[in-house]
Amino acid sequence: MTRAIVWFRRDLSLDDNLAWATATRDHTEVLPVYVFDYRLLDRAGPHRRRQLIASVAALADELRTLGGSLTVATGDSIESVTRLAHEHRVDTVVWNNDVTRLAQARDDAVHRRLSHSGISVERSWSTLIHPPGTILTAAGGVPRVFSRFHERWSAARLTEPARAGHARILAIKGGSPPSIDGTAPIAPGSEAAFHRLDAFLERIDAYDVERDLPDRDATSHLSADLRFGTISPRAVVRAVAGSTPGREAFVRQLAWRDWYAHLFAEHPDLVDHAQQPQYDTIAWRSNPAEVQAWKHGRTGYPIVDAGMRELAATGWMPNRLRLISASFLVKDLLADWRIGERHFRHLLIDGDIPQNAGNWQWVAGTGPDAAPYFRVLNPLTQARRFDPNGDYVRRFVPEIAALHGGSIHAPSELGPLELARAGVILGETYPHPIVDHATARERAIATYRAAKKT
Ligand SMILES: Cc1cc2nc3c(=O)[nH]c(=O)nc-3n(C[C@H](O)[C@H](O)[C@H](O)COP(=O)(O)OP(=O)(O)OC[C@H]3O[C@@H](n4cnc5c(N)ncnc54)[C@H](O)[C@@H]3O)c2cc1C
Repeated sequence: MTRAIVWFRRDLSLDDNLAWATATRDHTEVLPVYVFDYRLLDRAGPHRRRQLIASVAALADELRTLGGSLTVATGDSIESVTRLAHEHRVDTVVWNNDVTRLAQARDDAVHRRLSHSGISVERSWSTLIHPPGTILTAAGGVPRVFSRFHERWSAARLTEPARAGHARILAIKGGSPPSIDGTAPIAPGSEAAFHRLDAFLERIDAYDVERDLPDRDATSHLSADLRFGTISPRAVVRAVAGSTPGREAFVRQLAWRDWYAHLFAEHPDLVDHAQQPQYDTIAWRSNPAEVQAWKHGRTGYPIVDAGMRELAATGWMPNRLRLISASFLVKDLLADWRIGERHFRHLLIDGDIPQNAGNWQWVAGTGPDAAPYFRVLNPLTQARRFDPNGDYVRRFVPEIAALHGGSIHAPSELGPLELARAGVILGETYPHPIVDHATARERAIATYRAAKKT
C-alpha cells in the first residue's frame, strides 16, 4: 500500500490533470491538498481572490462527490506541505509545475525538504499545452519570434487525456479556507468551465471576425479557467477540432499563452526588465496624476475609460481594450509599462505574470517579437473601428451615455449644443482629454528613438 499527497495549485480540476492521474494510478490512497499561501493571496486583487477561493471550494465539492475531501491549509506552502506529508505518513508528494520564479523557488524548497526525509516527489507539467523546453530552436532556446514558435508548436503531438486511476481518496479535515467576501466574478469550478467551453464552441466559427468587438460576446472567456486550471488547455484544444478560420485563430491564441510561459521559464526577469535591453533606458514620464486618471477611467478618452472602469468593477477587460488602454498608458502618457503590468495583474481575474508581463512588453514594444516602437494605437480610430455605435463605452461611462451613436467617442470634438442636450459638461461631468494624442504620439516616438540609440 502506498499513499500520496496531490498538491493542487493552478490545476483545480480532476480532468486531464497529470499530477492527479499519476497519483491516483500509481498509489493506493491519495490525499488531495490545497494551501492558501498568504504571500500569493495578498497579491491578488478582490476579483481574483474571490475567483480563487470559489474555485478551490468547487474542487472540494467535486472531491466530496467521490467520497473524499480536499485538505485545506493556510499559511506558508513550504511549511504546510512538508508538515502534512509527515503528519499523514505519505510516501510521495505529486504536483504540477509552474513557471514563475516564486513557484519554482518554493517547489524546489519543498522538494529538497521532502527528499531529505525520504519522501519522494513527482512533478509534471499540466497547465500548458506543451511543457517548457519542448519547443526549441536548433540552438536550443525558445524561439524569439512567435510565428517560428507557433510553427513548431503546431507540429508537436498533443498528448492523450490523462486518465485518473482508482486510488482511494482520503477524507481528512484540514483548516478553513479564507472567507470569500463577495461572490466569484464568474461561475467557478471545472463543470462551469466546460459549460463555458461548450457555449463558446457554438460561436467559435465567428471568432476570427468578431473577437475584437468588445460589445459582442465573441471570445471564450476561458482565461480565468486556464489561470486556475479549472480546465486543461489540452482539453480545450481537443474540443475545438476542425480547422475553420475561427478555430485556427482561437488555437493560435492558446499558442501565445504557451509562448509567454515558455519565454518566462527561460527568462524570469521578463516581469521586471525589457527583453530588448536598450528599452530599459527609456526616459519614462510616469506622471502620478495621469497614471491615477488612467487607473480610475478619467482620461477623457471614453474608450480607454470604459475599459479601465470595466476592469476595476469586474476584474475583466476584453483583449482589444487591454491593447488600447495599455498602449495609451505606455505611449500616450509615456508611463513605465511595469506600472500598468502591476495594476492589471492586481485586478484581472485571469491576472498571471507570464501572460500579463509578456503582453505588456508586447504593447510597449520592449519584448521579443513585439509591436514596433513607432506603432502607437490611436484611441479614437480604435474606438470607431471596434465599437462603432459606442455601445461598449455607453455601458461603462454612463455620464456621457446620452451622446448619440459613435459621437460618444470624442466628446471634446462636439459642439456645446450637442453636449448640453446629452447633459455633458466637459471638465465637470466628464474630463477633457488629459493629453493630445497626436502630440503625445510624437513625444513617445522621439523618446523611444532616443532610447534605441543608447
Ligand atoms: C496588456 C495585456 C495584458 C494581458 N494580461 C493577461 C493576463 O494577465 N492573463 C491572461 O490570461 N491573458 C492576458 N492577456 C491576454 C488576453 O487579453 C486574454 O487572455 C484574453 O482577453 C482572455 O479572454 P478570453 O479567454 O475570452 O480569450 P480568447 O480570445 O477566447 O482566447 C483563448 C485563450 O487564449 C489565450 N490568449 C488569448 N489572447 C492571448 C494573448 N494575447 N496572450 C496570451 N494568451 C492569450 C488565453 O488563455 C485565452 O483564454 C493580456 C493582454 C494584454 C494586451
